[in-house]
Amino acid sequence: MKVLVLGAGQLARMMALAGAPLNISISAYDVNSDSIVHPLTQQNLGKGLANAIADADVVTAEFEHIPLPVLAQCQQSGKFFPGEAAIKAGGDRRLEKQLLDNAGVRSANYHIVNSEADFNAAISKLGLPLVFKSALAGYDGKGQWRLKQPEQAAALWQDISAFLAADSTQAIVAEQFIPFQREVSLIGARNSSGEVQVYPLTENHHVNGVLSVSLAVSGNEQLQQQAQQMFTAVANQLNYVGVLAIEFFDVNGELLVNEIAPRVHNSGHWTQQGADVCQFEQHLRAVCDLPLGSTALVRPSLMVNILGEDRVPEQILALPGLHLHWYGKSKRAGRKMGHINLSAAGNAQLKQRFEQLIALLPAAAFPELAQMADRLN
Ligand code: AMP
Repeated sequence: MKVLVLGAGQLARMMALAGAPLNISISAYDVNSDSIVHPLTQQNLGKGLANAIADADVVTAEFEHIPLPVLAQCQQSGKFFPGEAAIKAGGDRRLEKQLLDNAGVRSANYHIVNSEADFNAAISKLGLPLVFKSALAGYDGKGQWRLKQPEQAAALWQDISAFLAADSTQAIVAEQFIPFQREVSLIGARNSSGEVQVYPLTENHHVNGVLSVSLAVSGNEQLQQQAQQMFTAVANQLNYVGVLAIEFFDVNGELLVNEIAPRVHNSGHWTQQGADVCQFEQHLRAVCDLPLGSTALVRPSLMVNILGEDRVPEQILALPGLHLHWYGKSKRAGRKMGHINLSAAGNAQLKQRFEQLIALLPAAAFPELAQMADRLN
């Protein structure tokens, strides 16, 4: 099978690595250079998008900020999964909120802001504190403003109105601030016959809005069921085919959706070592209409992101249960450069190994890891 992936980053790369044993070959569309590249070498394959779509058996995507004409072109081919509507819902917070409402799934109360009247209506309808998020091109906490005190509103409106004036396609989604205990995500797959398989919930720790550590959480059946039911409602609403990720706020055991990602997701990288079939292979199985694989946790696992660093101490490779995954990217501050997966036979052993890993990693480049180690009791 030949699969064309829209986007040529680490997610396309890991799909290529997972697809090879199944004889699934991946080519990637680099949106920035408008060229088709090899997902591992980034070598330009010298063909245009139209030819690449024609050559492929299946078209899919590894990110949601894709030009609309490209999405339409792929949709027209009849082989694009999860398809235009799902990718658009992941890339536009207005459509995402509409989708969640239509699926009957809880998320933070919101109001869409295009004008000063809307801004004031958001404050009076929702109350403070509020989080204002750009409707388009928002990720990793970028394009967000917080409003805590009423006296800050006028200054904030100046910022937001300048932002809206600079781009007529933009809008703001104002959301109630949710006092959550923790953030969790559910990664799962749905195939063309409507079968759904989800991985265990993952607890996520962010630093400055960017994912730092993900820890597979098993054993909380009530929370897992709740997440699975919300996942299924959203996936069915979209008639979704492929891997879908849903990020939640956990508020005293009640889940609210924060956002969806219509693709494989950073918080699911631990599945490469912690599950029978990883999220990358599972996505390919779903979009290629092959049987889905087991999503059971085979051993307690966690993942640590490597941000802005192109080296880590080599001694970490001596730790049992550790796997290092580099993305082959050039170094840039804060950039997702790779990740470390760590697994063990049980939670106590995972905690012990994690503490050994933390001791070997430079603390400045890997802040706040100890907080997650404490969760492993
Ligand atoms: P997002 O880009 O929407 O995932 O937001 C980035 C981070 O901001 C999230 O991971 C949360 O930690 C925080 N955040 C987003 N929305 C809210 C909200 N409504 N209430 C509280 N925190 C939020």
